Amino acid sequence: MSIAQNFIDTQDQITKTADQFDAYHDLIRLVAVSKKQPDDRIGSALQYGHRIYGENRVQEAQGRWLDRCDHYPDLQLHLIGPLQTNKAKDAVALFDMIHTLDREKLARTLKKEMEKQARHIPCFIQVNTGEEDQKSGILPSETADFVNLCRDEIGLQIKGLMCIPPIDEPAALHFALLNKLADENGLNALSIGMSSDFEKAVPFAKTRKEIFIRVGSALFGERPDF
Ligand SMILES: *Cc1c(COP(=O)(O)O)cnc(C)c1O
Repeated sequence: MSIAQNFIDTQDQITKTADQFDAYHDLIRLVAVSKKQPDDRIGSALQYGHRIYGENRVQEAQGRWLDRCDHYPDLQLHLIGPLQTNKAKDAVALFDMIHTLDREKLARTLKKEMEKQARHIPCFIQVNTGEEDQKSGILPSETADFVNLCRDEIGLQIKGLMCIPPIDEPAALHFALLNKLADENGLNALSIGMSSDFEKAVPFAKTRKEIFIRVGSALFGERPDF
């Protein structure tokens, strides 16, 4: 398996899909999800030249990236997993974007940490578009209030909205709902799409929003269990 070839194939697929839907290529950001991947695969991706990576756990990300940050000054790390408030300090220190803001306490803690560290990191608000009990995220009906709270009252930089659709429903419907909520709240970025459904996410670049797609196994291969 060649990691470089996987990146080339995925980028090709993104370009083709974008063309097909008249979507703006240059608004699509590929976040390579490196969680749980063996080190040699990360090395290959870095050698290929990719610089935007996604992780879902703070501690694991520190282990994988702290040393590498010095070697790759243009590295961009995205937190795509749930964040506990007691990890907010480390998250602010390490990450360049947080995709999973989902509650007031976390918003206030993040703001405090960002001021302390003088690092003002853009955040996505996670929306539980499928209203699933086991999933994080605010409810769609809470979006306006929560955006206002985080952006206007607390003063965080809210980049856009993020969702993870239910596995047994068409992803495009959930992306469309998220897109509508973003429009209603004046937000122009979406964090949508994974290996299985990124082709459904790409067309949303037609809306002139920045589209962050979070692709793991299609780039790195299946994650080993350990
Ligand atoms: C793991 C993960 C991904 C990547 O999943 P793949 O199916 O490997 O592409 C994307 N988004 C989130 C939130 C994840 O936790």
